[in-house]
Amino acid sequence: MKKKHINIPIFIPELACPFQCIYCNQRKISGQLAIPDKQAIIQTIETYLQSVKGSETEVQLAYFGGNFTAIKREEQEDYLQIAEPYIHSGRISGIRISTRPDYINEEILKLLKRYHVKAIELGAQSMDEEVLLASKRGHTAVNTVQASEMIKTFGFSLGLQMMIGLPSDTLEKAIFTAQQIIGLKAENTRIYPTLVIKGTHLEKLYERGEYDPLTQAEAVKWAASLYELFEAAGVRVLKLGLHPSEGLTSGKDLRAGPFHPSFRELVYTTLWKNSLQPLLNQQGSNLILWVAPGQVNHAVGYSGSNKKKLLNNFGRVAFKTELQLTDRNFRFEITEKSEYL
Ligand code: SF4
Repeated sequence: MKKKHINIPIFIPELACPFQCIYCNQRKISGQLAIPDKQAIIQTIETYLQSVKGSETEVQLAYFGGNFTAIKREEQEDYLQIAEPYIHSGRISGIRISTRPDYINEEILKLLKRYHVKAIELGAQSMDEEVLLASKRGHTAVNTVQASEMIKTFGFSLGLQMMIGLPSDTLEKAIFTAQQIIGLKAENTRIYPTLVIKGTHLEKLYERGEYDPLTQAEAVKWAASLYELFEAAGVRVLKLGLHPSEGLTSGKDLRAGPFHPSFRELVYTTLWKNSLQPLLNQQGSNLILWVAPGQVNHAVGYSGSNKKKLLNNFGRVAFKTELQLTDRNFRFEITEKSEYL
């Protein structure tokens, strides 16, 4: 049986990041300013471990939020050493970190290997040079290719995060980015729609009319197309949309852009809408749909939108679960008999 995986997330805000990516105001996105000290990290680990039952869960310590390998080497070692006793006792299986593609080299990878880092996620954001330049990322797509190949050669698990709707981005470029991520053999990805966060350079461009964010409908449509590509290639999509921090949900930090607290749900709804499309060409008294357990809400759709569409063609629609079904596979029956419903 496949082990359940949990991350113990430790957020390291990038307070002194030397880069100025056009969309980033790390302090506002993180919603958290304090750099966690050793005691606070140990406390978090202990709290998480108390909730882990049995040996069927694989636990990793995850340093997220910043460019881990861009911080001073001594600080990196301090953070990595915190996990050592837990790794030796088997309570934690390894560490995962996120960083920039241009902060990967052999020396860094050897250090990470020595401290049992298992997974490295790179903020690729786009594989289109024009998009990277317009977003002032400060690295090229070639950097991402080289870093990814090195990470794979060293035997780490590779994650490549991407953003959609950056300046100069198009759906074609986003699809190209996804294809590159697949080609680089990333095990997983995260898809983040670009938001206009207050206090960023992007906000100035937006106010001057030089940048238009994606609409919510566009962001959902793009993300669904990318998801289908990743799914077909076996690349796991770990995240769709930014974590709804208080600053984003209240609108305090958000100037514009396709933020939705249930962005993932909206994408799943679209994926299911695409899958159910053949049924929208049919009609009947009653429709019964069997889907995998855990997929009912996605199939019904956010605010019941998929069900409502089906109800335009069918008198009654019922969703049922079937254990043998997986993902978005489904079985259906159109019947005049209502006793099944
Ligand atoms: S997104 Fe860019 S500016 Fe923001 S922390 Fe990362 S590298 Fe620095």
